[in-house]
Amino acid sequence: MFSRTRSHSVWLAEAPLTGYPELRENLDADVAVIGGGIAGLTTALELQRAGQNVVLLEAERLGCGVTGASTAKVTSLHGAIYRRIEQKFDAEAARLYAEANQAGLEHIAGRAEEMLAHSVDCQFERRSAFTCTFDGSEIELIREEAEAARRAGLPAEATSDVGLPFPVPAAVRVENQAQFHPYRYCVGLARLLTDAGGRIYEHVRAQNVSDPGDDGYCTVALPEGELRARHVVIATLLPFLDRGAYFAQTHPSRSYGIAVSLNEAAPEGMYINVESPTRSVRPMPDGRRILVVGEEHKVGQDDDTRDRYAELEAWTRKHFAVQSVDHRWSAQDNIPVDDLPYIGPLDRETDRIWTATGFNKWGLTTGSVAALILKELILGKRHPWAELFDSTRTDVLPSAKEFVTQNLNVAAHYVGDRLKALVAEPVDQLAPGDGAIVELDGEKVAAFRDDSGNLHACSPICTHMGCYVLWNRAERSWDCPCHGSRFATDGQILQGPALDPLEKIDPSGDQ
Ligand SMILES: Cc1cc2nc3c(=O)[nH]c(=O)nc-3n(C[C@H](O)[C@H](O)[C@H](O)COP(=O)(O)OP(=O)(O)OC[C@H]3O[C@@H](n4cnc5c(N)ncnc54)[C@H](O)[C@@H]3O)c2cc1C
Repeated sequence: MFSRTRSHSVWLAEAPLTGYPELRENLDADVAVIGGGIAGLTTALELQRAGQNVVLLEAERLGCGVTGASTAKVTSLHGAIYRRIEQKFDAEAARLYAEANQAGLEHIAGRAEEMLAHSVDCQFERRSAFTCTFDGSEIELIREEAEAARRAGLPAEATSDVGLPFPVPAAVRVENQAQFHPYRYCVGLARLLTDAGGRIYEHVRAQNVSDPGDDGYCTVALPEGELRARHVVIATLLPFLDRGAYFAQTHPSRSYGIAVSLNEAAPEGMYINVESPTRSVRPMPDGRRILVVGEEHKVGQDDDTRDRYAELEAWTRKHFAVQSVDHRWSAQDNIPVDDLPYIGPLDRETDRIWTATGFNKWGLTTGSVAALILKELILGKRHPWAELFDSTRTDVLPSAKEFVTQNLNVAAHYVGDRLKALVAEPVDQLAPGDGAIVELDGEKVAAFRDDSGNLHACSPICTHMGCYVLWNRAERSWDCPCHGSRFATDGQILQGPALDPLEKIDPSGDQ
């Protein structure tokens, strides 16, 4: 089990970790893929199989990012997205989105089948997916979504027969969707990749990527040495380079999950509601446990994240015969301004550095779609879905443009206001296990008192773009509300885009 924070997902608790080597020498490759989640691993495998010599770098452990903390539904039914895409774009965009996601699903099905020959069972199972209104407030929206999904080409039907142990007024059902074990799937992809000749390195955090020099190679700067590659794919959830300004075209959103043992049979399907708060439910393969995920909020913008678990648990106990709550965890993904992920060149200036980001909490299928698109683009070909997901699209909606412009300011103001309130807390009132922004010797510091009463302090300034980090009680981490970087209580990076840890401060005042 890998975790520097308090919570770890049910998937990571149940699987042994990978152990690929660290990279301590200079290397050359055709393609460098940075990031060992589903997007990076799938892209690396596709390119290696297409004859490219691929090196994949992972800052921590493969599959232990958001992929290994997801609900792990593999479906084209993403809440009420078809209605929204039709409204924001048009019916053809919705059709392409459905086609791409169905292909992503079948791509995963194919790799899952292959992995079995390598003794990796990622528990891929066909299930029906449902988008529901649980409280009956969105019956019309559900009807519209069923129609939009059908127009997009999905075998969608409206129903109220969903197989949950409580009445559901209306739902959209799409059959022949799937669920799996996302961490085992990543392990399986890694096996397929190394079998095909690809090389994988763990515990290597890429620091920078430069455009190609006269020799035609981009350079990936590493803590020790460098990797030269003709193409570089940045699949790090949110690119750690500021080029392309994806940090301003998405916002980081955190969700909470619990794994629950039931005193009754688990429902057969995979469910998500459209009203707020979100409740996403799926069974575990043993048929006696379920996952319940929801309570989303912008990263860093929740007063006491422990309440999120309490809300989730209360809802679950009200609707299911709960025997025990066995796992609690939280994770975040980046929400794009116009609902569509960004897949393609990092910016308009390059045809060598590529990215896939903004997966909107549906990146298991769209992360696989990204691999299919990026493979073709890197091989110099076209792809029919490339325009829809174009990472350099500028024709975002007027409201989206405004969002992009204001994104930084809004977060900065929010943080500023929060900070004023938080500095009032005197350091000697900090309870064991708690953290806060406090003043030490006239300086604002991010202080944490461990369970033994020792004080640990860091600079509260996020090393990405200088926003103030805020305390996450449930995870015992410092989270940046601007772009989602997260840090452990000792300042070490838990999640990018930050590349440097928080500066450590001696709480005794001795430097
Ligand atoms: C709670 C939750 C539930 C979800 N459930 C679903 C679901 O049911 N179905 C679905 O389709 N989607 C779901 N999603 C979304 C989905 O999990 C993500 O969109 C998808 O996993 C993103 O994959 P990724 O490879 O881009 O990111 P990740 O899996 O996070 O991988 C990125 C990797 O890059 C590494 N990295 C970062 N910086 C560097 C660096 N500088 N150098 C080297 N490596 C680096 C990280 O360590 C990480 O391993 C969910 C998301 C959340 C938050």
